[in-house]
Amino acid sequence: MINQKYPYELPDLAYPYDALEPYIDVETMHIHHDKHFKTYIDNLNKALQPYPGLQRLALDEILRDPEMLPEKDKVNIMRNAGGVYNHSLYFDNIAPTDSNYPSGKLLSDINRTFGSYEQFQKMFSENAAGVFGSGWTFLVRDKNGDLQIFNAPNQQTPPEFELTPVITFDVWEHAYYLKYKNVRADYIKNLWNVVKFE
Ligand code: MN
Repeated sequence: MINQKYPYELPDLAYPYDALEPYIDVETMHIHHDKHFKTYIDNLNKALQPYPGLQRLALDEILRDPEMLPEKDKVNIMRNAGGVYNHSLYFDNIAPTDSNYPSGKLLSDINRTFGSYEQFQKMFSENAAGVFGSGWTFLVRDKNGDLQIFNAPNQQTPPEFELTPVITFDVWEHAYYLKYKNVRADYIKNLWNVVKFE
């Protein structure tokens, strides 16, 4: 997860751009990480430029407390801070891995909350397929540590709702359109092959 303050910089991808083939194609990875993610970084820096007080805060401190933001730039700051936060999480959360299956306490919590891992996967996939327009689906923990599936439209984030993310799927069209065209459900199905539980 991004651990930076202003001015934000695009983090390197932690693995080669073609490492998630054939599930996520190399061209999508380049455009998504180097263009879309970078645009949120650049726009967040621009949005925070007039506000030295906000520049000193961590990203999730900004997201948790939108009421403190200057009214005229609130939407712009939240949108871009959300884009940076969500993409940072996403590119950490997908990776070439031997274990795209939860273990330990997370697995037992999933089993207890959703019945089984397969039930959880089905429910999460249905949520992700059902996001209307652009947005995200998260597995989160609430204040009590309980698991839930959480859909966020556009660039809303878990911290705004006092939730802590565990995994996320980006279901904006730019995340899958080159390879999967309009078939979001196939992208979601394939993402399970590269999701990394920690
Ligand atoms: Mn995206």
